[in-house]
Amino acid sequence: MSKINSEFSTELTKLGCPVDLNVCFNCGNCSAICPLSEGENSFPRKIIRASILGVEDDIKTSLDPWMCYYCGECSETCPQEANPGELMMSLRRWLTTKYDWTGLSWKFYTSKKWEFSAIILLAAFVFFLFALLNGIPLSTDKTFINEIAPWRIVEIGDWIMAGVLAALLISFIFNMHRMIIIKDKTIKVPLKLYFTEFWTLIFHFASQWRFSDCEIKIQSFWKKLCAGKYNYWIAHWLLMSGYVLLFTMIVIFLEWFQTDTIYPWWYPQRLFGYYATFGLIFGTVYFIIHRIKKDRENSKHSHITDWTFIILLLLSAVSGILMHISRINQSPLLVTYYLYVVHLMIVVPMLCIEVPFSKWSHLAYRPFAIYFNNIKMAARELVKKQSNSTAN
Ligand code: SF4
Ligand code: SF4
Repeated sequence: MSKINSEFSTELTKLGCPVDLNVCFNCGNCSAICPLSEGENSFPRKIIRASILGVEDDIKTSLDPWMCYYCGECSETCPQEANPGELMMSLRRWLTTKYDWTGLSWKFYTSKKWEFSAIILLAAFVFFLFALLNGIPLSTDKTFINEIAPWRIVEIGDWIMAGVLAALLISFIFNMHRMIIIKDKTIKVPLKLYFTEFWTLIFHFASQWRFSDCEIKIQSFWKKLCAGKYNYWIAHWLLMSGYVLLFTMIVIFLEWFQTDTIYPWWYPQRLFGYYATFGLIFGTVYFIIHRIKKDRENSKHSHITDWTFIILLLLSAVSGILMHISRINQSPLLVTYYLYVVHLMIVVPMLCIEVPFSKWSHLAYRPFAIYFNNIKMAARELVKKQSNSTAN
């Protein structure tokens, strides 16, 4: 017996859903037009129906919201202006709050006070940590950044933070797996499928390829490229790859990245840093412009957490590059030092809040959703083959 949640539409409204679900008359136009909806994975009509009825169990176990990459086609063509694309966005927020057992995602998505207080507290924590270690220097006779912020100590902090964030995110993904695969009694998944389908997880995390499919199917690759149909995917990919590269250099290769030697511009350490900064600034500015102009269906309704994430990312990149410019121009060490502290006061809250509890987490949930979906489809295929061979 499926659980009905009579408060479901109120919960979605709290999560920023601007849609009146009751105007939908279930015509199915949205599923017909959706470029990503196919075969067994037909959406969004079914999940809209479940949302109207508040069938919480069906929504919790559904992967449909993650399969949608919010091209906005369905919203543009819905005869009732029910805005199914925005409903899918809100359902992703709702699912994020269900995978998260700490309850913090719900707090951050529904309360500005919670989100901004957490950002300020973490920024203050970073500031006082540096004040504790170095005092509050007004001038310094030290020559190098590694003397006042030794990479070995910063690296320990990085590892602790990365370990805690990874543990939280992994536990949420286990929760997602429990809801989607373990609780689904209609299918038994053989262990080997987790290995044979693993490539889909890596491929979709690295390429975000379904974004590029999220356009009308009939056009060829070149026609779509020339018409700028891939711009959104390119901006998203640059942002994501810049972020992942920077995170890797800071957490794994800090000794190499945080150096006092000034290498020539073509040295890989500098080129990687420039690429990551370019990706972050290009991607964030692209999304900020569209959110301000509201010229795409998927940028018309910005939730406060969309803004917080993108602004924190932009500030992280800008403060990082300012620090770099200050360092290579051999500005007074005090300037570089304070820019370094400000940079960390932005980066630490951005990572601690956004990665496990807020907007960033979709970068992990989406490829896992495709992975789980492929595992389930492969398991169904196996059952079909086995029953066919038994029948023969
Ligand atoms: S959301 Fe719009 S297009 Fe989709 S089923 Fe409802 S009325 Fe039809
Ligand atoms: S926003 Fe695009 S991908 Fe998402 S359900 Fe609508 S048509 Fe499909």
